[in-house]
Amino acid sequence: MNGFEVIAAQLQSLKDEGRFRPLTVWEDGSDAWMTLQGGKRVLQMSSNNYLGLTHHPKLKQAALEATEKYGVGAGSVRTITGTLAIHDELEQKLAAFKGTEAALVFQSGFTTNQGVLGTILGADDVVISDELNHASIIDGIRLTKANRRIFAHKDMNQLEAVLKECGSFRQKVVVTDGVFSMDGDIAPLPAIVELAERYGALVYVDDAHASGVLGKYGKGSTDHFGLHGRVHFQIGTLSKAIGAVGGYVATAQVAKEYMINSARAFLFSTALPPSVAATCIAAIDVLKGEPDLTERLWSNANGFRTKLQQLGFDTGDSETPIIPIIVGESARAIAFSKRLLEEGVCAQGIVYPTVALDKGRVRLIVTAQHTEEDLTFAADVLERVGREFGLI
Ligand code: PMP
Repeated sequence: MNGFEVIAAQLQSLKDEGRFRPLTVWEDGSDAWMTLQGGKRVLQMSSNNYLGLTHHPKLKQAALEATEKYGVGAGSVRTITGTLAIHDELEQKLAAFKGTEAALVFQSGFTTNQGVLGTILGADDVVISDELNHASIIDGIRLTKANRRIFAHKDMNQLEAVLKECGSFRQKVVVTDGVFSMDGDIAPLPAIVELAERYGALVYVDDAHASGVLGKYGKGSTDHFGLHGRVHFQIGTLSKAIGAVGGYVATAQVAKEYMINSARAFLFSTALPPSVAATCIAAIDVLKGEPDLTERLWSNANGFRTKLQQLGFDTGDSETPIIPIIVGESARAIAFSKRLLEEGVCAQGIVYPTVALDKGRVRLIVTAQHTEEDLTFAADVLERVGREFGLI
């Protein structure tokens, strides 16, 4: 077979730049300790399973019961025959949880951003986006004909300057991650909301890493800052702290109805399996019923971040369970991550183009499942390998 020359050459340049990463295959499900294919057990510090809900008995039971009742698939897109009672129940539950009029569920967080941004923005509008927003926001914006402005990361002076010069557009939408996925810092949402209100803009927050993490019962960044009713679009994932897969937007009923009829990612892709919808309904009950999970997540994260800083690591601007260790050049970050894995700690290397060329890093994610012994083990390994690499 031939014809793959161009693709092969592109792959080779990735490898030459030290940016090639093969997939790591695991023998078991997401957990604090996991087994690499071949049998090696390692401490997992790269999953988004913040609360360990992937294995929660109530969620598993809900998935099994929904499968028995509805079968394994929805059978169609939502707008044809794919809206089952369990989808409707999930959306009502999410809206009540987030304190909004309505919620609409998509197949993933990624497609939620594509569907929502692709629908609400037109050629007469302007979207104003933080430079470190997630790839799915960037791609969602690319799907639109809207005018684009980027503001430097969390720079409120620049945001205000941009808002000032965008007075003539039909609609202005300010977009930010709630928690930034590569740095673990929190968006200055109160300042964004105030500026947006002053200049008549809508506010759009992607809470993928804030759902189940920030706010009362993990309700997200809007709740964390007490901004209910002042954020127009709250995006969430069902794939990280919630433990399953899917995404949603919590918003006004009018926006929901419009998106049901116009969001291409919603219209043209089959509904979530009923087991997933049921799992997510159960997850929201667990968030409210077991607040100790979120408390443990935060005490683990804060303790571990302090420990790394005391060792002398550069943890950037982290203030959440996402804790980067900034290494620098891509190849070095990947080599550091590889050595950590050899020593029993899975800490994903994150390199360009996901982060700037000189900001390669390993990203650690602390979860509620990690025990004190786990975190001591991780800190010991990091200290040893960190010295090897001259990072501390
Ligand atoms: N937004 C942000 C900020 C994310 O970090 C992610 C996950 N990497 C997504 C959206 C996409 O979510 P999902 O994995 O559910 O598609």
